[in-house]
Amino acid sequence: MELIYRSTRNADETATASEAILKGLANEGGLFVPDSIPALDVSLEVLAQMDYRQVAYEVMKLMLTDFTEEELKACIDSAYDKKFDTPEIVPLVKKAGAYYLELFHGSTIAFKDMALSILPYLLTTSAKKNHVENEIVILTATSGDTGKAALAGFADVPGTRIIVFYPKNGVSPIQEKQMITQRGANTFVVGITGNFDDAQTGVKKMFSDTELASYMDRKGFQFSSANSINIGRLVPQMVYYVYAYTRLVADGTIHAGDKINVVVPTGNFGNILAAYYAKEMGLPIAKFICASNDNKVLYDFFATGTYDRNREFILTSSPSMDILISSNLERLIYRIAGNDAERNAELMRKLTSEGIYTITDDMRAKLSEFYGGYATESETAAAIQKIYESDNYIIDTHTAVAAAVYDKYVSETGDHTPTVIASTASPYKFTRSVMNAIDASYDAKTDFELVDALHQLSGVKIPQAIEDIRSAPVLHKTVCDKEDMLKEVKGFLKI
Ligand SMILES: *Cc1c(COP(=O)(O)O)cnc(C)c1O
Repeated sequence: MELIYRSTRNADETATASEAILKGLANEGGLFVPDSIPALDVSLEVLAQMDYRQVAYEVMKLMLTDFTEEELKACIDSAYDKKFDTPEIVPLVKKAGAYYLELFHGSTIAFKDMALSILPYLLTTSAKKNHVENEIVILTATSGDTGKAALAGFADVPGTRIIVFYPKNGVSPIQEKQMITQRGANTFVVGITGNFDDAQTGVKKMFSDTELASYMDRKGFQFSSANSINIGRLVPQMVYYVYAYTRLVADGTIHAGDKINVVVPTGNFGNILAAYYAKEMGLPIAKFICASNDNKVLYDFFATGTYDRNREFILTSSPSMDILISSNLERLIYRIAGNDAERNAELMRKLTSEGIYTITDDMRAKLSEFYGGYATESETAAAIQKIYESDNYIIDTHTAVAAAVYDKYVSETGDHTPTVIASTASPYKFTRSVMNAIDASYDAKTDFELVDALHQLSGVKIPQAIEDIRSAPVLHKTVCDKEDMLKEVKGFLKI
């Protein structure tokens, strides 16, 4: 049976999976959501015997029903290969009383690689299936990690161009260097004078500009998205939760059917939503622990039922979570509103016009599986130091937010259910903050001295992604005002 995707803001707008991937965003700013989530049709015990690629196929085939088996397997095999520095693709390691799911073994050393190494294949397959003649322009806003992962995935992919907007002063030095050294004639990287929300709002505006869309079409281009608003990002992210669970079954930690908790360091709410979708598919998850940094708009939302972005935007040591408008929360709001596009659209209009909305008590009651927590900067640093000292294991700042929130959760609830923590980035991506957390005297060193120091301390091999940028020339120097994003897009496309 074909799974239909529908806009969260207009019940009449539907798409097949491949159409939804191509479009990225629905009209009127809506997001595509599946009408239902099909149940896994292979048992958890059988999945426990499979490798990552096989699990990926079993999960993704249920969500991308208009792809043939051959097409989907080709996408999966091209994505999850030697680009990952371990054959397991995502190792699950037990440290300090939790299971860390290391999602950072791909080519850009953040979890965004999990989806963005397959998205280009899903997208070009979708274009072929739908007889698209236009060149596809991937328009991306990044808080630091999506940008590089999307650039790496789409560089030199025929029939595509990729444009990335990042907050000029809102990413780590390594994140910036990774992006501005990107090769590939079809790539364009622009720093904006603004924050991530400004970049995301500017990109969404271009997406929903119908006049621009028809102008682009006349010139032989159409937009698509590599942000987690694209269902082609979320579906591959469901896979690793199923994979993690079934590894715990395989090693005897749990029996198939036992519940686990997951902790997800959250920004745009894409990663944790993928876990929620995995549960709907049949994965036994008890609690979704949503971890925020000082930009704790989600913590407040879960605590009060009011989403309020009217607050100061704080730059933290976990920049990929410095977000006040968590786009994918809309998909959850739509769900708890009873899949009611009108009710959802009304709340989203409020978010746009007033920056605030409140859900009803009856919607709130449907959020009982979620626990919101946050960690301050000092709590985050303390978590890095603590796990380094207890387990000689060095985690990055985002993962540390999750670890700190998990500690608070356990002391508050006494819940010792086996717990998977999504480890979203390699510490090598945020070396300065990580090393300072261990010992403040490291701050005197240069970025690459810190890389070497981290290597000495952890014994973990320096990832190729870091070696690559040590001496790479800067190829992208454009910086623009947030008002001028469209001008930059037109300039790059020469239209
Ligand atoms: C993107 C990112 C996050 C946040 O993930 P969302 O899906 O946006 O909630 C957390 N940590 C790292 C390292 C990231 O790159």
